[in-house]
Amino acid sequence: MMNWIFIGTSAFLFLTLLFFGWKNKRRLRDARDILNTLEERRRIEREEDQARLQEVLEGKSEMEKKSQDRSGQLSMIRYLASELTSLTSRKEILTRLFQKVQLLLDPAEITYFTLEEDEKTLTLYTSPEVKNFLPKGVRKDLRITVGNGYVGFTAQKRVAMIYQDFEKESNLIRERLKTNQIEGLTTDLSAPLISHGDLLGVINLAKLPQCTLDEKAILQTVADITAISLEKAKLFEEVQRLADTDGLTKLYNKRKFMEFLEMEINEAARYPRTLSLILLDLDHFKNFNDTNGHPAGDVLLRGLGDILRENIREVDILARYGGEEFIIICPETDKRGALTLAGRLREKVAEAIFTGGEKQPLGKITISLGIATFPEDKKDLEGLIQAADQALYRAKEGGRDRISAYEKRLMVSVSH
Ligand code: GH3
Ligand code: MG
Ligand code: MG
Repeated sequence: MMNWIFIGTSAFLFLTLLFFGWKNKRRLRDARDILNTLEERRRIEREEDQARLQEVLEGKSEMEKKSQDRSGQLSMIRYLASELTSLTSRKEILTRLFQKVQLLLDPAEITYFTLEEDEKTLTLYTSPEVKNFLPKGVRKDLRITVGNGYVGFTAQKRVAMIYQDFEKESNLIRERLKTNQIEGLTTDLSAPLISHGDLLGVINLAKLPQCTLDEKAILQTVADITAISLEKAKLFEEVQRLADTDGLTKLYNKRKFMEFLEMEINEAARYPRTLSLILLDLDHFKNFNDTNGHPAGDVLLRGLGDILRENIREVDILARYGGEEFIIICPETDKRGALTLAGRLREKVAEAIFTGGEKQPLGKITISLGIATFPEDKKDLEGLIQAADQALYRAKEGGRDRISAYEKRLMVSVSH
């Protein structure tokens, strides 16, 4: 009996162990499966993460690139604005405009058209500094009437236009624009330059790598900034012009003349070159004023200024030196050359008909002229003017309506 109990218990234990062993194996297998699944899931997750990260990174770099471009463009515009405020020359401002538009929008062609005083004509801006930006096939003396072609139409509409904007216009306008197209001039993007409601000109771009509303907004912003600076420069130039010229004759005044003379003498000394000064004075002008009245005297001074202006060379510098005294710097001119010019001026004045001139002591309006030459007569500014003045004095003494050139020997005897 005991045997049977022993055999039964052993069999039970064996079966139990067998069962548990099998179960353990299964558990182990299950555990391994679970681990594998986890591992697999992690791998998938890792891959997914990586892909997402890549996506994010790529997305971010794309965004970053865009925002970098944008912030670069904004800094450039901001920089342009600060640069332009320090400039007072229209030429410099326009050169800067071309350079910055090139950097910002990279067009193959840039043109600028200035609105003329008649407010109807736009003239192509062709300063040598911007020559490289101009389209090859366009005429340098190109003038466009406001309303004509894409540029003229932008001036008329006074808003920035991209190519599609022209296409949106009525059939009639589109036809007109097409028939009025200018040879060699393409427009992909154009913007007016407006300051205080006044149109100053139009900037016109062609062949841009991109031409969307963004580019249009950028060009309009740059055009607005430039227009304000151009307006300011115009006012500055006007103030400068008023400071440099004489109100009655519109010739350079004495202050500006002295600046020019200093410059010219320095230059003549450096090369070295010769230059001559002609100082001239109206004869018996007091008499003219007394006989005809001061306003008539003013008219005479203006008329004399015009005659002198018309009869000098382009390089000569003419100024009103004092009341009825005028002075001319003649660069690269020796005494002989100055005598020829002075002779011509004396004749032109004597030939001219001035109201009241017949009542003058010489029967007409005349001038006396004195000449001094650098460096042969004097080598310094004051000395040269004094020499011309002494020569003029001699012409007056000699009877007026004549020319006298400074001569060292003679002048010494005059001054004694
Ligand atoms: P001379 O032949 O020796 O030069 O005699 P002049 O009478 O021309 O010279 P003077 O220096 O005696 O007189 C110059 C006159 O020029 C006196 C002055 O009133 C006049 N004058 C100076 N500036 C002006 C001006 O802007 N307008 C007018 N109408 N007269 C002026
Ligand atoms: Mg006089
Ligand atoms: Mg005088």
